[in-house]
Amino acid sequence: MSTTTAGVVVVGGGQAGFSVVQALRGAGYEGPVTVFADEPRLPYQRPPLSKKAHTEPEGPAVDLVPESFYRERDIDLRLGEYVAEIDTAARAVTTGSGVRVPYEHLVLATGARNRPLPVPGAELEGVHALRSLDDALAIGRALTTARDVVVVGGGFIGLELAQVARARGAHVTVVELADRLLSRAVSAQLQEHLRERHERDGVRVLTGTAVERIEGRNGQVHRVVTGQGPLPADLVVYGIGAAPRDELAREAGLAVDDGVIVDEHLRSVSDPRVFAVGDCARHPHPHAEGLVRLESVQNAIDQGSLVGRRIAGTATGPYASLPWFWSDQGAVKLQIAGLRARTDEVRVVPGDTPERVAAYAFRDGRLVAVETLNWPAEHLAARRLLQQDTPVSPDDLSGSTLGTLARARRATEVRA
Ligand SMILES: Cc1cc2nc3c(=O)[nH]c(=O)nc-3n(C[C@H](O)[C@H](O)[C@H](O)COP(=O)(O)OP(=O)(O)OC[C@H]3O[C@@H](n4cnc5c(N)ncnc54)[C@H](O)[C@@H]3O)c2cc1C
Repeated sequence: MSTTTAGVVVVGGGQAGFSVVQALRGAGYEGPVTVFADEPRLPYQRPPLSKKAHTEPEGPAVDLVPESFYRERDIDLRLGEYVAEIDTAARAVTTGSGVRVPYEHLVLATGARNRPLPVPGAELEGVHALRSLDDALAIGRALTTARDVVVVGGGFIGLELAQVARARGAHVTVVELADRLLSRAVSAQLQEHLRERHERDGVRVLTGTAVERIEGRNGQVHRVVTGQGPLPADLVVYGIGAAPRDELAREAGLAVDDGVIVDEHLRSVSDPRVFAVGDCARHPHPHAEGLVRLESVQNAIDQGSLVGRRIAGTATGPYASLPWFWSDQGAVKLQIAGLRARTDEVRVVPGDTPERVAAYAFRDGRLVAVETLNWPAEHLAARRLLQQDTPVSPDDLSGSTLGTLARARRATEVRA
């Protein structure tokens, strides 16, 4: 199929870009589909990268689908090619190698990039960030010999990697600038449980602590100097947040503010021919006040799917999927359903085994988010209730879990 006819052009071959093309063909779209993916390998999953040590090239183990998927569906996947410019007036993109490709619909799925560590010594050998498979392989190789590992940033990726390093027998210290772990992502109450479990596993946690500089010997990292003194280190991994890759949109004159600004249909507010999905999109959501930008697999898959089906003509409604997330930190599975922003009450309930705990977050007397540790059934009950917009008050949950509450309500409905 020739791509000189305008069809759908997707910029970015990650989780969201893949979801767009899967949905397009799944919904019967027959026009040309081109994906520009600047990484030189098949689109792959990022979550496994921080959950184990990768010492061998993973190949198919992390690929989203095999190469035959794209070939059989006539998807023109251009690996190792990046889009350098968008001409919205002429409806065409130009690649880094100067190839111009017209589009009828353009989907930006450019993801996010790690924020750099702004301290002297961040460029030393042995200091790593984690986003790509190559990063994961470099960290995995370093972990085969590392004795002292310093993780800068107590976010999801840092805490997952701290457990991976502990499992390989290293001494691990997590250094976090905020006064607690996961300060933007989970409630203070759940964080306490999580911190205790990391410390029980032998991870040292320093909160309220700044990294001042990293020192090396012969170009290799040797120690990390923090506000609480120096820490020996032969491997440093940092995860201090990500920024959306929205520069292409900005240069094309599209509205951008920490992400490409889109409407409830995930269309650029500046140009209805352009959509943005996944980590790079800032969007309205019925569960949020104002616009949000989410970095999660669920968000990438559901947004990509909606845009693919919308272009194919089989979806019409706004984007309203319930946000949910997971993070595996050693033996702990953390799961979050809903959006926690501006909650005014949090109730923590222990589960029926010591490993299980749930934190229920309320806004104006109504349940809006649920965080669980090692309690998948309660997480799934939360997803169902929150997606259906079923009101749940703090009183509803005294002496009950969402699982039992949902069962009781179903029984009442059946009797009525
Ligand atoms: C280590 C790690 C662990 C994670 N673990 C979890 C987890 O446990 N649970 C969870 O829900 N989420 C997790 N996430 C987040 C999740 O992986 C992301 O939210 C998801 O991958 C976003 O998909 P995306 O397609 O928007 O972006 P990406 O997956 O980042 O893909 C974007 C792609 O676009 C390419 N690109 C950018 N600009 C251009 C251009 N101009 N031309 C061509 N290509 C371009 C990029 O190189 C990249 O390959 C994790 C992320 C990381 C990094």
